[in-house]
Amino acid sequence: MNDYSEHIAIIGGGIAGLSFGCFLLSKDIKPIIFERSSQIREGGAGISISPNAISLFDKIDLKESLSNEGFFPEKINFLDEDYPITSIESRVCCISREKLVSILHEKYIELGGRVIFDHEYISFDSDNKILKFKNGQSYKVLHLAACDGIKSKIRDDFFETGKPVYSGYSAWRCIGQNPHKDAYLQLSSNKHLVLYPITNSLSSFVGCIKTSKENNESWIAEGSIDELVQDIGFMSDNHKETVHSSKNFFRWGIYTRPLLKKYFAKNITLFGDAAHPIVPFLGQGGCLAIEDGYAFAELLSDIGNLEDAQNHYEKIRKPRVKMITRLSKEQALHNHISNPLLRKTRNFLMSKTSIIDKQMDRIYKFEL
Ligand SMILES: Cc1cc2nc3c(=O)[nH]c(=O)nc-3n(C[C@H](O)[C@H](O)[C@H](O)COP(=O)(O)OP(=O)(O)OC[C@H]3O[C@@H](n4cnc5c(N)ncnc54)[C@H](O)[C@@H]3O)c2cc1C
Repeated sequence: MNDYSEHIAIIGGGIAGLSFGCFLLSKDIKPIIFERSSQIREGGAGISISPNAISLFDKIDLKESLSNEGFFPEKINFLDEDYPITSIESRVCCISREKLVSILHEKYIELGGRVIFDHEYISFDSDNKILKFKNGQSYKVLHLAACDGIKSKIRDDFFETGKPVYSGYSAWRCIGQNPHKDAYLQLSSNKHLVLYPITNSLSSFVGCIKTSKENNESWIAEGSIDELVQDIGFMSDNHKETVHSSKNFFRWGIYTRPLLKKYFAKNITLFGDAAHPIVPFLGQGGCLAIEDGYAFAELLSDIGNLEDAQNHYEKIRKPRVKMITRLSKEQALHNHISNPLLRKTRNFLMSKTSIIDKQMDRIYKFEL
């Protein structure tokens, strides 16, 4: 038996697990990450990080790395098909997922953290705090933090919850050449396309479509450009430029799980997609995962006891997650309007009122 009885055991070395590990170490609390893969990896797409999470990166001196490795678009241009609706100043940082997890991993190691690879969680004896892995290894730990994503086995084992459910939306993603400085959001009937620069020369393309054709939830379901074009249909020249210069095309179905009543059970706490997988139409799933880790580490450091920290964590996170979940779902409806009159009304409100900025202020505001 390996003794990590003073450590918070984090299952999963994704955005949630790595950022939580960093926040704990910054408070002199000991984490240990167990990851089923043989290395930290993410691929095939970009991700946008908004001010609510950027400000938390700043607290662990990661804002500079984020700026160096990612890209801050100047504006976000909204279009209805090819017709420009409005432009707003952008406040997000866009970065490849691979680079994001890599800078988080580097910071975690720099702060003294350790990731134990090739360890796939299979069970936790919560009375004796003993963790078991598929490779036969077992560890005595202090607490269990589930950062094992939407298909969380820990969530299945300890929380009353349904399985992941197909949201009715699928997404295509690829990274290609595009030297533009701005981000573009093209709205259309039953679909929307997002394009944002992740370096000086590369952009990330996301095409979200409403479809009853279910794809398996996976980062690595590769498809072809022909399939992408067939699914997506009309694209503006900007989007085409990126798509046609891409080499790999990924598609997956978007799944969610019902909102949880409890975020913790005994000495187990849920974070990120394991706690609240949401539809990605406001780009907030990863940002919420970062907020979760920050909130728990701060509370634990202030309160000094795990049980009280769990209670406060749940109290603080539930309303915010509920609000972002609702807004994210509504966003798809706004983006995908088919009715021409409603479309005109939406476009009018977007261009002539401060509705977008107000919505962003609300989402980007995170305080503990
Ligand atoms: C199309 C799309 C676009 C998105 N765009 C954005 C965006 O722009 N901005 C944003 O903030 N969010 C975005 N998101 C959401 C974001 O990707 C997720 O919320 C985020 O990746 C969740 O991170 P996580 O660490 O909780 O889970 P994951 O990234 O799923 O990480 C889980 C980790 O746990 C490991 N693991 C799983 N099971 C086990 C086990 N049994 N034992 C050991 N290890 C295990 C996995 O290998 C993995 O490393 C988007 C999502 C989609 C689908």
